[in-house]
Amino acid sequence: MRACVLTTTGLQITDVPDAPAPGPGEVRVAVRSAALNHLDLFVRDGLPGATPRYPHVVGADGAGVVELVGGDVQGIVAGDRVLINPGISDYRCEFCRAGEHSLCVAYRLLGEHLPGTMAELVTVPAVNVRLVPDLSPALTWAEAAAFTLVTLTAWRMVITRAQVQAGETVLVWGIGGGVSLAAMRIAKLAGARVIVTSSDDAKLAAARGLGADVTLNHRTQKVAEEVRALTGKRGVEVVVENVGAATWDQSLRCLKRGGRLVTCGATSGPNVTIDLRRLFWHHWTLMGSTMGNAAEYDEIVRRLGAGELRPVLDQVYPLARVSEAYRRLEQGAQLGKIAVEIV
Ligand SMILES: [Zn+2]
Repeated sequence: MRACVLTTTGLQITDVPDAPAPGPGEVRVAVRSAALNHLDLFVRDGLPGATPRYPHVVGADGAGVVELVGGDVQGIVAGDRVLINPGISDYRCEFCRAGEHSLCVAYRLLGEHLPGTMAELVTVPAVNVRLVPDLSPALTWAEAAAFTLVTLTAWRMVITRAQVQAGETVLVWGIGGGVSLAAMRIAKLAGARVIVTSSDDAKLAAARGLGADVTLNHRTQKVAEEVRALTGKRGVEVVVENVGAATWDQSLRCLKRGGRLVTCGATSGPNVTIDLRRLFWHHWTLMGSTMGNAAEYDEIVRRLGAGELRPVLDQVYPLARVSEAYRRLEQGAQLGKIAVEIV
């Protein structure tokens, strides 16, 4: 099969052995489109402790047509058009039994720990696919591929973890990123007022068109001062973080007494400091979050089918130009998702 693989010398498009025939409980999907996430940059550049077997097929997000179905699979047949959840759980550990599949002790991600979606074929557990909902106009394959990782991540952060309520104010950093954009839209669905930031005025204008209530340019404006002015000096109830070191102090300065900060990433660096006296005095809650569970996946796919949460695409590239797609992501030039057409 044709695939984008990581080798000792970097990424290349080449032919590799087909993804294995599906075992019990698995399906093999003919991938039509894959989508990039920041994770793909981390994988390309080498995650600490991760030693993939080369050549390693990259790509976490994808969508396509079920091609082969293994034994013991219910409800999925060959020819089904499916979205793929890249988070693979063992469905056996105590967290999985409690329904918390992204807390699985054996949790792995397509494209990071396992062969990914940027290939003509990928084999995954049948519990990781969902039928592509019928929408009008129909979802493109690129939109379908772009849906899962960021929407699932943002849903869990905003709804399950931070429990954003109608009337609350939410600050979302870096609106060009897929998780941030999804978080903004989900917070709006929850009835919140949303303040978003970017260093790019064009992205901020686009964000207003997509529902942002207030936009701040974090290169030219002092975010914490602006946020405090916008909230009667109180700060916001919820901060959605995935930037880390570069924004952490500002995030805390924006947080109201009793506020919640939820983070799923550290794109600018993982090490931050906190004054514990401020944490307890202000009754803050700091939360981590990664991906989401099967029930959350069902819910976001249902919402997608109801016409909400349709992915915002930035650019779509053919597989042969995947290096341009990576470059665009690396430069942070995008607003929304960057997808790669496999066929
Ligand atoms: Zn588990």
